[in-house]
Amino acid sequence: MRLDTDPYLSRYADRARDLAASEIRALFAVVNRPEIVSFAGGMPDTAAMDLGAVAELTAEVVRDHGHTALQYGGGQGREELREQLVEVMARGGAPATPDELLVTVGGQQGLELVAKCFVDPGDVVLAEGPTYVGGVGALSSHQADLRHVPMDAEGMRTDLLEEALAVLKREGRRAKYVYTIPNHQNPGGVSLSEERRVHLAELAEEHDLLLLEDGAYSLLDFEGHVGTSLRSLVPDRVVYVGTMSKTFAPGVRTGWIAAPTPVRERLVVLREAADLCPGNLTQLVVERWLTTQPWEAQVKEYRALYAEKARTMLDALEAEMPAEVAWTRPSGGMFVWLTVPRGIDTSALLAKAIVNRVAYVPGRGFFGDGQGGDALRLCFSYASVERIREGVGRLAELLQGELALLRDVFGADAPELAGRRDEPGITGGGQGGGGTSRDPGPGWGVA
Ligand code: PMP
Repeated sequence: MRLDTDPYLSRYADRARDLAASEIRALFAVVNRPEIVSFAGGMPDTAAMDLGAVAELTAEVVRDHGHTALQYGGGQGREELREQLVEVMARGGAPATPDELLVTVGGQQGLELVAKCFVDPGDVVLAEGPTYVGGVGALSSHQADLRHVPMDAEGMRTDLLEEALAVLKREGRRAKYVYTIPNHQNPGGVSLSEERRVHLAELAEEHDLLLLEDGAYSLLDFEGHVGTSLRSLVPDRVVYVGTMSKTFAPGVRTGWIAAPTPVRERLVVLREAADLCPGNLTQLVVERWLTTQPWEAQVKEYRALYAEKARTMLDALEAEMPAEVAWTRPSGGMFVWLTVPRGIDTSALLAKAIVNRVAYVPGRGFFGDGQGGDALRLCFSYASVERIREGVGRLAELLQGELALLRDVFGADAPELAGRRDEPGITGGGQGGGGTSRDPGPGWGVA
């Protein structure tokens, strides 16, 4: 039971009433202390950026386009930038025209606007389980009935999606859309196989589905491989959300939505109600970045850096982790998903982890229904190679200690201790335990 002393409680809208800052949000306030190795924040390593080049082009923007840069702009975003973003999408194999694009304040605003456009309270949205914490937040702030489709090493189990669609049909309901991150998923670290992309597109046709394709990590495959975009398979059925956060920098807060024209028109009206227009200053900076700088070489640099860090993390996990712990093996992106025996609650463990000077994001934040208590996300893009080794060592030591404790309490053969390495799925066990209040995400920097 939550003791409520909030004098405004009777005034809140339904969508805000149950929101409350969780203990986890409070813990995240300390994870950026230097003594803590943080694998929590989904942060790009901007040390790889040429700050001199950014400083120069930003000065040029103010000097050469100052009055435009400091003025309001149109709600759809600058046409010149939309033309460039269409080129960025093309590198990820996703076709679009500049008119189909709407520039947003990060991909996050894109996810929120799409939820606002399509979701009434109680509407069903299907998504991978686990899925992006900010996607869960966007959906829960519109009171969606978020249902998860399990994943394995090849991404969303489209056979189970088909089952979920059949269940909905029997209930006389339909999903408003299916939210998916096909490439190097956050937090799973896996990609949708080519066969399943085709299957998903077929299911979309067969069941008259709308897909929300989140391309945040599409250009971050370690080898430069580009998976087939859903938008290239069934363009009329796909709303695509993109971001410059992972290929340039999150600080410019520049993302976009590509949507069929009638949808795009509505999204512009909804966005104008939220923030009128994207900032001209940052749009011009991004535009100039894309037109005057070797931006693809920068992406390549990010990819090489993250490949090295991922290898370091995977090697350290292999060397240090107890046999009962399982994890995914990413070929791109920024994340590894770790699954521990059911007897360990990763939300409860976070405080101990922080005392042991290592931080992660507990799995529950990536589900809308309380699953994920036996999982956690590690981000490998931000910490240095040395710190990754140190942090994995600290986490492994902590988990060893927890397992020893469980063995003492339950005996070595207890189901609470069962290893997870043989399970094909990216599990979402550890049901419930979330309490009565909702927190749409762990907060600052977790992305
Ligand atoms: N989608 C996914 C899958 C993400 O991981 C993120 C950020 N971590 C976003 C969207 C949004 O990021 P931003 O708002 O910085 O573009």
